[in-house]
Amino acid sequence: MSRRTSLRAATVGLALITAALLGACRSTPLPVSPDTPPLRFLLTFDDGPSIRSEPNPTAQVLRTLASNPLQPGIRAVFFVQTRTTNGGGTPEGRALMARELALGHVLGFHTATPGHTNHLGMPSEKLRGSIQDGLADHADISGGTPRLVRPPMWAYDARTLDIYAEAGLHALITDVSANDGKIVWPNGSPRRRQHMRYQMDLLRPRVQAGELPVVDGVIPVVVTFHDPNPFTAEHLAEYLQLLVDSARREGLRVSERPFYGQGEDIERVALARTVSAGEPVQHIAGFWHSLLRLKP
Ligand SMILES: [Zn+2]
Repeated sequence: MSRRTSLRAATVGLALITAALLGACRSTPLPVSPDTPPLRFLLTFDDGPSIRSEPNPTAQVLRTLASNPLQPGIRAVFFVQTRTTNGGGTPEGRALMARELALGHVLGFHTATPGHTNHLGMPSEKLRGSIQDGLADHADISGGTPRLVRPPMWAYDARTLDIYAEAGLHALITDVSANDGKIVWPNGSPRRRQHMRYQMDLLRPRVQAGELPVVDGVIPVVVTFHDPNPFTAEHLAEYLQLLVDSARREGLRVSERPFYGQGEDIERVALARTVSAGEPVQHIAGFWHSLLRLKP
């Protein structure tokens, strides 16, 4: 081997070792500062209510939130569809939404069309009309006006945000998605542990960088499930444990009370996390991976 060849080999070898070391550094997470406040999960449920017969998934979710081994009396935000023919548009669906309110949960706007309509595809006047329909439905159910909206399929832009704002609605996206939507994820979800670890892996640098606001001494982390999914409804207690365990495994501190509960103004907390005008559109980590069946 000539001197020049061996020099080149040594250079290449050094570059490979450097790359390997950098890779190792990247995969070793930096410790979260002990000064970082603990997390508290703000649970949200989309697409309900469901009027499936017993066991009714929405009712099952309400029972688990009220009573589970981790924290009884959890309060959540339900982003409801008030006009679906197999849910909110029926007397049974209306009764379930009234029950959600009576139990201290918050109702937010998701759709007021017969289907799960993407707001981005709706002309402005049509979207405005649909929001007015929804507000009227909410007024019938609660006597009040919702302040939170969850755009279907997380699809929004400056135009739809402006139309929401005209109606006093603020868009709440999510930090963690269970990807249990009926379109996106099969009921069995055998990879849910792996998926949740992946979500926490993405959350951790945001917490480290101080990107998430602190509200009342904790960092609210928005989590999304779908209550019409019978698998979610049946396994919600497991999912709650999985959230706490996955966060702790990532070195994230979780509050002694990991979820919001009775007596807390969760709408105020949620409003601290809504999208501001002019902010870049948020993309949901893992959504497309899951949809396209890619490895997370
Ligand atoms: Zn939805």
